[in-house]
Amino acid sequence: MNMHDLPIADAEAHPLTPVLLAEARTLAAQTGRPVIEVLEELSSLVPDAFVLALARLMHYPALNALDLNAMQPLFDRLSFNESVALQAVLMQAPQESDREEQIQQLRLVIADPFDHGLQLRLQNSVRLPVQWCLAHRNDIATCLQFHESQMRALDHVHTEDGMDNEDQVPVEQLSLKSISEDSSPVVRFVRSTLYDALKAGASDIHLESTVHGLRVKYRIDGVLNEVGGLNGVMQAEQAISRIKVMSELDIAERRIPQDGRCKVHALGREIDLRVSIMPSVIGEDAVLRVLDRKALSEAQGISLEVLGFAPAMLSQIRMQAEAPYGMFLVTGPTGSGKTTTLYGMISEINKGEDKIVTIEDPVEYQLPGVLQIPVNEKKGLTFARGLRSILRHDPDKIMVGEIRDGETAQIAVQSALTGHLVLTTVHANNVFDVIGRFTNMGVDAYSFVSAVNVILAQRLIRVICPYCKVDDSPDQDLLLKSGLDEKASAHYQFKKGQGCGQCHGSGYKGRKGIAELLLFDDAMRELIVAKAPISQIKALAAKAGTRTMREAGMALVQAGETTLQEINRVTALS
Ligand SMILES: [Zn+2]
Repeated sequence: MNMHDLPIADAEAHPLTPVLLAEARTLAAQTGRPVIEVLEELSSLVPDAFVLALARLMHYPALNALDLNAMQPLFDRLSFNESVALQAVLMQAPQESDREEQIQQLRLVIADPFDHGLQLRLQNSVRLPVQWCLAHRNDIATCLQFHESQMRALDHVHTEDGMDNEDQVPVEQLSLKSISEDSSPVVRFVRSTLYDALKAGASDIHLESTVHGLRVKYRIDGVLNEVGGLNGVMQAEQAISRIKVMSELDIAERRIPQDGRCKVHALGREIDLRVSIMPSVIGEDAVLRVLDRKALSEAQGISLEVLGFAPAMLSQIRMQAEAPYGMFLVTGPTGSGKTTTLYGMISEINKGEDKIVTIEDPVEYQLPGVLQIPVNEKKGLTFARGLRSILRHDPDKIMVGEIRDGETAQIAVQSALTGHLVLTTVHANNVFDVIGRFTNMGVDAYSFVSAVNVILAQRLIRVICPYCKVDDSPDQDLLLKSGLDEKASAHYQFKKGQGCGQCHGSGYKGRKGIAELLLFDDAMRELIVAKAPISQIKALAAKAGTRTMREAGMALVQAGETTLQEINRVTALS
């Protein structure tokens, strides 16, 4: 293979100099952007010329798109997912000379030579002698995309062998290949809509009928984003019909809501989608909820760390999860990560010494060593009935996915009072609403407060995208609206995301949990049983050191991890 001899005139005319590099480093440090990106901008070179010049400056061999195509990636040594995440690929060089040693034949191609943390991670992953090479990140991405479509094509062959169809739910193949295949435009539209949503990490996909056609929105990090649509009422109907076919629903029925599910094969695994079709005055809307079991259990490992709570909060939660009996209640609106907190607690306390049984609707993630029972209302297996059966199964710890009716509430409280640890969620806006919810469900206040150890209220807030984070100075209005003045905000490091390709222009990437925890000690129990006003309960909680969710959020603003706008969106100023 040719390691290029810099034949491009551009690179000669504007070579990257150490001075320009120093300038890029300063600017990168100020803006929090990667040095490589800033340097490329400052250089004004086209990508190929930039890589050549950079390679010369940093003493690496440079590879272009053609070179990458000529080599075979070793995904068994550096997995495909790691390659995508690290913008790097381990290549077997073409064998042109027998005399070359093994070391010359493994090339670890990276896009960013300035990221030493990345190089360490790669070294740890690969653990083989390699020759480091540079390529442009676009070329690496294109190369990975090409190999992904190849792998998908292989997957397709395997599933057609009938290996993968262990149950009756139909599986839709999603890949760049299946999208570009010769099928109808509507099928292609549905496939690419689902594929893009999964790639973008969407939790829900909304297809909304309008008078002109269909509008598509993805929920990413808890917020709906409009991503496109389809023109034409006929096409819209066909797209909804296609979703119904995929999830084995009645295509002819257009006036009543229908629920179903389907599986798609994408990103190297099977992903379940829960489908809800709803008739409207215009047409029908579809919402597909992504139940990506593997994403949580394998990509991140289920633990309490996943939600990114502050360390002090985390250790309090852990301490309470170790309690031998009583009720641990998690509360928050839909999509606030309640279930993830429960799963995190269970996987941490699941040491094989206790019998742990769960009842859930649906079972979202499979936990090894835990008996998990899915609610099945059609067959009469409700939360209440399941919970009663569980109690005859000699459990130590019980997780009830959600308490939403009086019967379940009663049994759960009784179980907690009779020596079981009960982990559960209830839909409420804050810890104080929870008390009211239980009384409304007919649980007497005395049993409730005796059973409960702790109530955790939580939200997920979006954190600023690290790729486009810059300093920010919020205006007076926003400060006042957020309960801050100039003096109080003096020690805040305000930041914001400008919006970039990494965050789909939103300025936010990923989420973190914020929480408040109300511990039930005797003083607190007395106040609640005496029906003391909320203000008094709040005062006692504050005295005991309970930090409100708002305060937890403001700490993240102060540290420049999120914005005032985001905290105001998610929590109310009390
Ligand atoms: Zn960004």
